Amino acid sequence: MLIVGGGTAGWMTAASLAHRLGRLGMSITLVESSAVGTIGVGEATVPAIRRYFQSLGLDAFQVMKSTNGTVKLAIEFDGWAREGHSFLHPFGRYGLEAGPVAFHDLWNRLRSAGDAGTLDDYAMGSRLARAGRMTLPPDQPRVDFENFDWAVHFDAGRFAAYLRSFAEARGVRRIDARIAEVLRGDGESIRGVKLDNGETHEAALFIDCSGFHRLLIEKSLQSGFVDWRHWLPCDRAIALPCAHADVDAIAPYTRARALEAGWTWRIPLQNRVGNGYVYSSDHISDDAALAALRAQLEGEALAEPNLVRFRTGHVKRFWIGNCVAIGLSSGFLEPLESTSISLIQMGIDKLLHLWPDTAISPVLADEYNRLSITEFERVRDFIILHYSANGRQGELWRHCRDMPLPETLARRIAAYRARGMLLKYDLESFFEPSWLCMFGNFGIEAGSWDPLANLLPLPDLQEVTRRVREDIRRVASGCMTHREFLAKAGALA
Ligand SMILES: Cc1cc2nc3c(=O)[nH]c(=O)nc-3n(C[C@H](O)[C@H](O)[C@H](O)COP(=O)(O)OP(=O)(O)OC[C@H]3O[C@@H](n4cnc5c(N)ncnc54)[C@H](O)[C@@H]3O)c2cc1C
Repeated sequence: MLIVGGGTAGWMTAASLAHRLGRLGMSITLVESSAVGTIGVGEATVPAIRRYFQSLGLDAFQVMKSTNGTVKLAIEFDGWAREGHSFLHPFGRYGLEAGPVAFHDLWNRLRSAGDAGTLDDYAMGSRLARAGRMTLPPDQPRVDFENFDWAVHFDAGRFAAYLRSFAEARGVRRIDARIAEVLRGDGESIRGVKLDNGETHEAALFIDCSGFHRLLIEKSLQSGFVDWRHWLPCDRAIALPCAHADVDAIAPYTRARALEAGWTWRIPLQNRVGNGYVYSSDHISDDAALAALRAQLEGEALAEPNLVRFRTGHVKRFWIGNCVAIGLSSGFLEPLESTSISLIQMGIDKLLHLWPDTAISPVLADEYNRLSITEFERVRDFIILHYSANGRQGELWRHCRDMPLPETLARRIAAYRARGMLLKYDLESFFEPSWLCMFGNFGIEAGSWDPLANLLPLPDLQEVTRRVREDIRRVASGCMTHREFLAKAGALA
């Protein structure tokens, strides 16, 4: 088998396949080109990444130590609902449940009475994040607010290098050369690749992890592309890491701050802060975007700016013949919710699940494509919601408020407005608490709620929820600082 590309996608795939399928005696070769390089961004994850570490038998804190990793409890959305407003999207569940009544129904009822508190008040992850503190969620939560979760920020280059050692130790062969030509086989298949060192490599199965180059899946097999720019107008990003303002106070969360023509990210690692501006080139020039990004840096810039152009959407077919695209080669959604690496994981999981034996049946490809398209669409809807519900001034933001929405998203919003319902679809990356987070913080009002929530006497409900909010604040403020936590866990580099 041949993997084309040695970025995060290529090495994650190589490590997983070598670990899981090594016993089959399969040979895995990975071709990457240090002359072409990798995209060089992609440092914030979601909690699923810890499942990936586990699947390889890796200790999360060891990975963090090797990659200057930090804890990520949430994403702060600064200036999205309106200028000056900030909320967190934490991982995990909110506050409390009352038997069959969901938290959001209780919260909506309380809101109608005027003293519900903010959603952040009910999330341990949010409170810890704001306080710059961390503790591990217990294996067996005793109270509802202990159901929080966490992910990591890491240096993407170091992560790929870490996985490379892992994969090479399990027999993966690496070739550093540029692919000069992709050789087609019969029908919709690839026979091999010709390298600029004169070698030709043939294989039965190819994994295209060539990033935005899409060498196999698009350039050779002409998959076609589903373009979502009309819903997500940002098409460029500039990345520029800088030094920490205060290395002792590393925030355990990502920040996404809305600006005139898009938004900036701030991803704190142990040794530096990753920054970037994701923007619409119809609404700001590259020079102006860079100037706006520089104006936000909290410390000295540590590299030259990295300008990335991208198309939002996905290839029409992720698996064609004997070629499967994983990572940026398969599609891209802007990093507002840090979903690309988790989409890589989903690609690997599906591939392992549908792993072909000797012949590659088209049924496998069809199933892979069906699942991948739905997974991408689910993430797409969640990201669009951030834009469509914004309360900002400016042309880009007005456009996003007025644009027609995908039918699946419009239905979710209508269900919440009608009766505070959080619809559940299959193959979701984001569950009820995440949708509630967006609806609640963007000021989308629920017209009513589960009538069972009305059976609880209002003063009792107010008293219970007040205590829960107080408990969360008290417990969070008593936890270790983020740095103390990293040190104790053995995760400091
Ligand atoms: C601005 C931005 C911010 C992002 N932030 C996040 C984030 O916070 N969280 C997240 O989960 N994801 C994020 N992502 C996505 C994330 O960067 C990618 O999912 C991840 O890095 C995987 O990239 P990749 O391996 O698919 O591609 P790449 O890193 O581009 O790797 C492509 C590989 O293909 C090789 N290659 C290409 N052409 C040839 C050739 N001709 N011959 C030989 N080799 C070749 C290259 O050498 C390289 O090894 C972000 C993306 C962008 C654009």
